[in-house]
Amino acid sequence: MAALDGLPPLRDVIQRHGLDARKALGQNFLLDLNLTQKVARTAGSLEGATVFEVGPGPGGLTRAILALGAKKVIAVERDTRCLPALAEISDHYPGRLEVIEGDALKTDFEAMAPEGPVKIIANLPYNVGTQLLVNWILPKQWPPFWDSLTLMFQKEVGERIVATEDDDHYGRLGVLCGWRTSARMAFDIPPQAFTPPPKVTSTVVHLTPNENPAPCAVGNLEKVTHAAFGQRRKMLRQSLKPLGGEALLNKAEIDPSRRAETLSVEEFVRLANCL
Ligand code: SAM
Repeated sequence: MAALDGLPPLRDVIQRHGLDARKALGQNFLLDLNLTQKVARTAGSLEGATVFEVGPGPGGLTRAILALGAKKVIAVERDTRCLPALAEISDHYPGRLEVIEGDALKTDFEAMAPEGPVKIIANLPYNVGTQLLVNWILPKQWPPFWDSLTLMFQKEVGERIVATEDDDHYGRLGVLCGWRTSARMAFDIPPQAFTPPPKVTSTVVHLTPNENPAPCAVGNLEKVTHAAFGQRRKMLRQSLKPLGGEALLNKAEIDPSRRAETLSVEEFVRLANCL
């Protein structure tokens, strides 16, 4: 049966273009177009927006983003085998899909960002996704060039992104994301929704930039979170020793006997500003 957008079912696309999933590229494809629409809808209204999609693969999510009215999709894909399949989508939506062949980790998204709303949507291998997320939330300039990030992760990574103090998943990622963004887990996707199925449940995380995060040097916040969570079970007077230990904690008015996972984002920012 043809899909609602008039393009062939993804299973046929994959077969016709020989897109057998490659483990080295973290390829777990979403073939259910209802599900890809649900992911794309998490980004809110796409009307008039430019969407950067990372890792379009055979194009299931790309098709959903275009069908939901994005003005333009700029998609970065590393696997050249996917390009002919993506060209068919491009022909179906003239002038609305630009595909860039390359490594997203080496792509300057900001330099390509046009005027108007920019949303980023991706289903990526989790290590690439986490690195990109950190790059997108830690630029020197804030607010950033994007209006929202809608990203799929292993559920455990999603839990780390949205975690706050006293949560087992709270760590460096939770502090960095909590400082500059509002992040929420939208919904889970079970392994069997993917072809081939991964080992674990995935989750869709949606982040929007906080307009006025407390002023703080990014490098200092990275230093304190790295040291504090590097030895998360130890008291801060011990884990922060290389950065000034007790003297630093006293200056920030934080009890040196506390542990990293009990500090709020605001307290980490205070520590970073006392460095
Ligand atoms: N978006 C498709 C979907 O939802 O079915 C494919 C998702 S699959 C999990 C990840 C995609 O990212 C693959 O197409 C893979 O080739 C691509 N990819 C992996 N590493 C990449 C990188 N560094 N830069 C760009 N694309 C990458």
